[in-house]
Amino acid sequence: MNKKKSPEKSGQVVITRQEHGISRKLMSPNALRVLYRLKDNGFVAYLVGGCVRDLLLGREPKDFDVVTNATPSEVKRMFRSCRLVGRRFRLAHIHFHEEIIEVATFRSQAPDEPEPEAVETRRGEQRQRHPHTLKDDDGMILRDNVFGTPEEDALRRDFTVNALAYDIADFSIIDFAGGLADLGSGIIRTIGEPVVRFQEDPVRMLRAVRFAAQLGFTMAEETRKALVASADTIVRAAPARLYEEMLKILFSGEAAKCCDLLRQTGLFAALFPAFSAWLGAESEGFPHTSFGEMLTCVDSRVQQGDKISQSLLLALLFGEYLDEKADNFRRQGMPWQQSVDAATAEFLGEVCPFIQIPNRAGFALRDIIAQQSRLKQIPGRRPQLFIARKDFNDIVEYCRFTRGGKKDVARQLEWWLAQTAQQEQEPLLERTEETGAPTRKKKRRRRRKSHGVHQE
Ligand code: ATP
Ligand code: MG
Repeated sequence: MNKKKSPEKSGQVVITRQEHGISRKLMSPNALRVLYRLKDNGFVAYLVGGCVRDLLLGREPKDFDVVTNATPSEVKRMFRSCRLVGRRFRLAHIHFHEEIIEVATFRSQAPDEPEPEAVETRRGEQRQRHPHTLKDDDGMILRDNVFGTPEEDALRRDFTVNALAYDIADFSIIDFAGGLADLGSGIIRTIGEPVVRFQEDPVRMLRAVRFAAQLGFTMAEETRKALVASADTIVRAAPARLYEEMLKILFSGEAAKCCDLLRQTGLFAALFPAFSAWLGAESEGFPHTSFGEMLTCVDSRVQQGDKISQSLLLALLFGEYLDEKADNFRRQGMPWQQSVDAATAEFLGEVCPFIQIPNRAGFALRDIIAQQSRLKQIPGRRPQLFIARKDFNDIVEYCRFTRGGKKDVARQLEWWLAQTAQQEQEPLLERTEETGAPTRKKKRRRRRKSHGVHQE
């Protein structure tokens, strides 16, 4: 790939249509529709971020993001199916049948020291207005909503390889930050000073790890050093964002590699102090537990395109740890169900100050662990009711993943699967209370009491 400076776009490196191998056939037709309409209305319109990176690497992009110099309200006027979202920074979502294309207006980087602005109210009083960009005392960006130029927009992005743009006007690729060279050498490098960029948004550290593992890249030396030095500050990020990013890592298909990198850089111990100590993180890998093995299993399932629910994922990774906690409670005389409840609550209490696991996922995790004992009861009371549970598949899958290799367990699972198959064959109407199947109780109408005077 030759890099050329185009006279029209001086200051950036531009790769012309003839010089790069990206074909529009590989792009989402909806994203192209959006780009063309913006262009036809006289606006600048680029594809940006991960999709350009992935197209250049020959990978299938997950989503197609568009940036433009049209303001969100101008975008809304151009597309009937457009909804504006986001309070901090307005984004346009253009809805298509099965896809949403996100359109952002070029944004500028948060300045280091935002000055509060003095504004005059309608009554002529002087007031201080919050600046559009705001950082806390440690340099973390709290608000960041100023429109900017294409170059400013590129430079506020996280890594050089994520700052490439595809210009629909001439089908060229614009490189504002040296991303093409890093893409060619397989390097993840922050744009600008890495310590500052990680201070502004600690989640970028997890993104650096994920992209390095997912793309098979290495981190630039300064980026890696800054990451190791800043690893402890990861807990300053919003817990809900950390859960989202943790899921992206674990569902990336390279969770084992990611966790290795998280451990080597200190991020793992910062995010999961108690769990990490239990794993014996000081030794190479996680050899004393099945955590490493579980990560590999999850990766191979994800790579095969299998769906795994969030709660099954959590159970697979933390189930052994929870079992040990529950064992401890049982040794103190607690009954089975209560011991699992207490173990889950203790685990969520350890993790949730940093990573906000939603209650729904926490309860579902607890149920998968607690219901393992039910699988051993064959046939037990009303097996069909157990099979009818929404999480039955997760309960079985957890058992198969963790203990499926044992002969007696394999036999139990076979029995349950045979019951499931049989139940699927039975027409719904034939199921009766006697067979234990869920039946709908007839609602009895209550007779209204007549209260003389009120009756009409
Ligand atoms: P993926 O394949 O996971 O979607 P992506 O690079 O597209 O990777 P997104 O989360 O979809 O990641 O973000 C789109 C783009 O937005 C990124 O490529 C990057 O340019 C920018 N971006 C996302 N998160 C940040 C961040 N925390 N700081 C700076 N820029 C970011
Ligand atoms: Mg993306």
